[in-house]
Amino acid sequence: MLPYGRQSVSEEDVAAVTAVLSGDWLTTGPHVAEFESAISAMVGGHRAVSCTSGTAALHIAYAALGLGPGDEVVTTPMTFVATASTASLLGATIVFADVEEDTALIDPGAVSALVGDRTRVVAAVDYAGHPCDYDRLNELAAGVGAVTLADAAHSVGGTSHGRPVGDLADITTMSFFPTKNLTTGEGGAVVAKDPALAQRAAEFHNIGLIRDPDRFEITDQGPWHQEVHELGLNYRLTDIGSALGLSQLRRLQQFKQRRAEIKDRYDQALDGVAGVRVPVRRDDVDPAWHLYPLRVLDGRRREVFEKMRAAGIGVQVNYLPVYWHPVYARMGYRRGMCPHAEAFYAEELSLPMFPDLTDTQVDHVVEQLVEALH
Ligand SMILES: *Cc1c(COP(=O)(O)O)cnc(C)c1O
Repeated sequence: MLPYGRQSVSEEDVAAVTAVLSGDWLTTGPHVAEFESAISAMVGGHRAVSCTSGTAALHIAYAALGLGPGDEVVTTPMTFVATASTASLLGATIVFADVEEDTALIDPGAVSALVGDRTRVVAAVDYAGHPCDYDRLNELAAGVGAVTLADAAHSVGGTSHGRPVGDLADITTMSFFPTKNLTTGEGGAVVAKDPALAQRAAEFHNIGLIRDPDRFEITDQGPWHQEVHELGLNYRLTDIGSALGLSQLRRLQQFKQRRAEIKDRYDQALDGVAGVRVPVRRDDVDPAWHLYPLRVLDGRRREVFEKMRAAGIGVQVNYLPVYWHPVYARMGYRRGMCPHAEAFYAEELSLPMFPDLTDTQVDHVVEQLVEALH
């Protein structure tokens, strides 16, 4: 089965990991700091805190913001459940804003109608790798004293108006799962523009431990002493994963370039094919395409999905609207709430998209798709 997404691991990546395995540190060692510095450099100098997954990154970000009961997070239903569920775990209330009909990105118009006194975070998702309209989202959030969070699990390496993902929202979370734009096995990162927020994120991801003597409340202990002021978890990325991430980061622009070529090749081949709609791109954004979200019209998505899978093409559907998940349905969220997101979900079919996909494979996917649509 040709997968919809897959890591690209080079000899250099293997050598980088092997070198760590025979060194002194497996977990927090020099590669963790080096990887975090490299992410920071990529996003315009804001501090990056690496962690064990994109889900952990979201949990860390919301925890660092001090989110709790009574706080609202305005977010999109067209995302992986973790964008919302990690805030729900902290007791916050999720308010779903509908997406734009064509891009499936959170609609600033919908956000504007939903933000208010209780809003603490506007959490946007750069679906498929396409950055959202952060100029407007930042303005809307700031207008009610909230912050923006970019769930950039899909969009690492992309830019908007010439600025890198990681420099667009107040706080950005990344995922380094193997299908994403670069991988550390499992892994993720939080980038925060506010250094105090980044510090809170770093502490939460390290059990809340404080080692800076200037901040100690207990001052009569010895050199071994460390203490906890706020609760945290162990979400630390390993030195092994960080070495892989550093090595992968060197090829991120290559990966992005190849993803863009694949996007163009699909676009050209599918231009004029009846029964489908190709993904759109707004002016002034340069996405690192994580997905190729085709739309299959006329109620035929399931049929086409099944035919493609039967033909050995590992298509995928991204995503079930978050509030359809039983856990949210039981909280009282009703279907029909975000019609654009639901219409998008009904038609969406992710075609294979990963850097090592060859032109021949792309052409084969298109042939099978045209066949399935017959
Ligand atoms: C993959 C993903 C996550 C979660 O990342 P993991 O590393 O798998 O935990 C969160 N949000 C979005 C939009 C994702 O695609």
